[in-house]
Amino acid sequence: MNLSREEIANLIKDLEGKILITTHKNPDGDAIGSSLGWHNFLKRLGKNVKIIYKDRVPFFFDFLPGIEEINVKEEITEEFDWVIITDVSELKRTGFEYIPAKKSIVIDHHITAEPFADYSIVEPEISSTCELSYEIMKLINPALIEYPVALPIYTGIVTDTGKFGYNNTSPTTHKIAAELIEKGIDPYVVTKNIFERNRIQKFKLLELVLKTLDFSIGNKVAHITLFKKFLEESGAYPEESEGFINYPRSIIGVEVAVFFKEIDENYWKVSLRSKGNVNVAEVAKRMGGGGHKMASGFETRCSLEEIKNKLFKELELAIESAEFERMDRLP
Ligand code: 5GP
Ligand code: MN
Repeated sequence: MNLSREEIANLIKDLEGKILITTHKNPDGDAIGSSLGWHNFLKRLGKNVKIIYKDRVPFFFDFLPGIEEINVKEEITEEFDWVIITDVSELKRTGFEYIPAKKSIVIDHHITAEPFADYSIVEPEISSTCELSYEIMKLINPALIEYPVALPIYTGIVTDTGKFGYNNTSPTTHKIAAELIEKGIDPYVVTKNIFERNRIQKFKLLELVLKTLDFSIGNKVAHITLFKKFLEESGAYPEESEGFINYPRSIIGVEVAVFFKEIDENYWKVSLRSKGNVNVAEVAKRMGGGGHKMASGFETRCSLEEIKNKLFKELELAIESAEFERMDRLP
């Protein structure tokens, strides 16, 4: 059942019993910021709350208050009355096959979101699950949005908006950022911890990955590949490849960037980024994944060649229709 902000606020305010909070696998800033923000907020509201992820937290989020309270588990065996799932558009994205909770709540902003919870709020136009969470928290009790809540929330907004640079950044996003700074957030604490603690291994990995740069569909698509062996060669962690896809997207004339990441033999994670004309959420959905118009992804178990064959055909169609739409708008 889809709820309004007010309805979801009232529901969360009155929750009773054991509450679990989780998010998507390979958690990013918005996933961690929103789930940890809710964890810290609900504790202040006097709730019995526990936070469990499928995958470990990348080290550059270690400055967030309460981060040590995040449990990482292969499966969840403990029983809960409620689960709040943030930044997740479909159950399998949590990485858990089953979540033992009597009732579920989803707070999300993916355009490809499919209803899978008892109660959901999904706002595809909003910058981030963190921004949406902040709006709901304000309806519950603004006084409880103290520093340990504000910092994770601010962090998720920064990462999902590309430091307020993507077109999901609205006037409200900036107003909320201003309110969070007024609550004592120092923007440079976030910048320094997340973007200025690069290990040399990351640059070794970047060097290997950039050597794979290639083009397709009249150079409108630029793609890079991370073979598993590159991680061993560089000594980098998989999460240190975050942001690499922005290099191929930044090339003049490129409409879509693709990042192929080998998880295992014939098991790939693929990220897509658009410059705005091509809807990559649609493309990812057809490949079995989802996301946003300008940032999406999917996972698949087949060879790289098979993925490329299928994906490049889909991208060609998407690029053709995008250009048609654009020409349509010409006077
Ligand atoms: P990233 O490429 O950074 O992993 O993800 C970009 C966006 O696409 C995120 O909003 C993320 O939630 C979405 N996304 C990435 N991989 C998948 C996937 O396998 N399934 C779905 N539904 N969404 C994905
Ligand atoms: Mn998000």
